[in-house]
Amino acid sequence: MEIACGQLLDPLLHCPEQAYITVSERCIYDCKFCAVPKLQGGVKSRQTVQRMVEDARKTGKLHCISLTSGVEESPEFEAKRVQKSSVISKALACPLASPSAHFPE
Ligand code: SF4
Repeated sequence: MEIACGQLLDPLLHCPEQAYITVSERCIYDCKFCAVPKLQGGVKSRQTVQRMVEDARKTGKLHCISLTSGVEESPEFEAKRVQKSSVISKALACPLASPSAHFPE
């Protein structure tokens, strides 16, 4: 009896057909379901995000850019940082999935 079936998809940048990027890999909050605060990872510069997106675009498989982030200092500061990175998607005319889409320029 078959219980489930599926198809394995190759990730482009963390997800299939997406450049899925965590900008700040650290967070001042401690949501219990989330590993980000325990990782205390780095914070990607706008240039690093741009390079990652460009590398993904060169594959010809990029259909969407997804930006997510922990909160390094404050929600307001983080929203501005992610918003600055989101201009990359406009330059590439690529759909963007990001909370920063709610913030006016
Ligand atoms: S990254 Fe988001 S989900 Fe994780 S601890 Fe911070 S606020 Fe919570």
